Amino acid sequence: MRRPDGLLNHNVLGDDKGPQDACGVFGVWAPGEEVAKLAFYGLYALQHRGTESAGIATSDGSRILVYKDMGLVSQVFTESDLATLPGNLAIGHCRYSTTGSSTWVNAQPTLRPTKYGTLALAHNGNLTNTGDLAELVQKLEPSTARERGATTDTEIMTALISLQNEKNVEASAMSVLPQLEGAFSLVFMDEHTLYAARDRHGVRPLVLGKLENGWVVASESAALDIVGAAFVREIEPGEFVAIDANGVRSERWAPAEPKGCLFEYVYLARPDTTIAGQGIHATRVRIGERLAKESPVEADLVIPVPESGTPAAIGYAKGSGIPFGMGLVKNSYVGRTFIQPSQTIRQLGIRLKLNPLREIIEGKRIVVVDDSIVRGNTQRAIVRMLREAGAREIHVRISSPPVKWPCFYGIDFATRAELVASGLEVEEIRRSIGADSLGYVSLEGLIESTQVDENKLCGACFTGKYPIRIPADMSEGKMRLEITEVHGH
Ligand code: SF4
Repeated sequence: MRRPDGLLNHNVLGDDKGPQDACGVFGVWAPGEEVAKLAFYGLYALQHRGTESAGIATSDGSRILVYKDMGLVSQVFTESDLATLPGNLAIGHCRYSTTGSSTWVNAQPTLRPTKYGTLALAHNGNLTNTGDLAELVQKLEPSTARERGATTDTEIMTALISLQNEKNVEASAMSVLPQLEGAFSLVFMDEHTLYAARDRHGVRPLVLGKLENGWVVASESAALDIVGAAFVREIEPGEFVAIDANGVRSERWAPAEPKGCLFEYVYLARPDTTIAGQGIHATRVRIGERLAKESPVEADLVIPVPESGTPAAIGYAKGSGIPFGMGLVKNSYVGRTFIQPSQTIRQLGIRLKLNPLREIIEGKRIVVVDDSIVRGNTQRAIVRMLREAGAREIHVRISSPPVKWPCFYGIDFATRAELVASGLEVEEIRRSIGADSLGYVSLEGLIESTQVDENKLCGACFTGKYPIRIPADMSEGKMRLEITEVHGH
């Protein structure tokens, strides 16, 4: 499951998956507009952030309706489904599971009655104190979220807000937000008002946009463009906003301590998105240029692993003077099926998504640029495929430093044991993938290319230095193992 322009179903790819994105959120307040359709197209633009399930909640001012299901946005909603969701405001969500399994009950938005109406909520990120919060919910309400079958941190947040003894959603949210730790970009709503909030570190992006007759909140600025909203600003780390007929009200619930995810710049965000004032495509080109300076090689052609490696490959070609070309063709539709491949097709593995152009590759010394190496399986398969297509030499260049540590803030790379760079040095990885040479951009080179202050970024998956505390009680099995290693580092 990878990228906006190359949705890959990880069932099809077996263990070949790359970093898994962790949800897209969208909210719109626009009386008189077809808000469900705006939410649909907003989610469509954010599809790369989560392809397991999708959902939309709308309110017509008197009640909230939610429609959600497993699958891609385009598989979940039909025109007639959207017609059953009238309203003045809507929130939407597309999901990849980082907490809780991939089941219908965990699809979002979540929905809960409150003393003052109904609350629907959608979340991108991952909380790091879910255990403590679940205990709090249990104290406030004996029949807990867990007993009702939901296992997500999102469900726990929704319960906590709805169980506060305050006069409205706004006051309840302001009392719950300071209790949440970890990464969260939230959109939520009651019958009348759209709300949004971002964790104090602003790990995951969240932006505000303006429609002619309303407002939009979205994970990425690209989703604003697609619904015709003008970018206004980012929701600040530690900020809460409420949007209704009175306009946008902003409150600060915590001082901003920015730690934006470095991986958004490398891989996660769409190339046509802007984060912290930086266009993602241009940033990736700069990373590629830097990579060419740091890890030069004599070669005939630079090719990307499409689509996510393309901007960095353009940068590498620019920085090195080696011509750029397309040597791998991607099947953009491979993720659009849930049909399990037959054994014969599975053995072809990577060819489901990539096929080499023999006439371009044959006899050449090739630089192949990709965004990251997680397990190494994809790169191993690509190198083999390029050799079979007649490449004389294959030099792999990666536009991020080695990923050595798991992410606890909303991206599911793999367990530490599965990360090839956690156990092997660069030369050993080169041998393992069968390349003639292998080079990664340095952490310093990556950070400088983002043009964002180093102190305002998270790079924990590269360094093991986690900017938000990871408590030892993060109880999921995989995580408990990781915690021991993190604390021992
Ligand atoms: S650990 Fe890596 S993927 Fe996770 S938030 Fe930090 S930089 Fe992003």
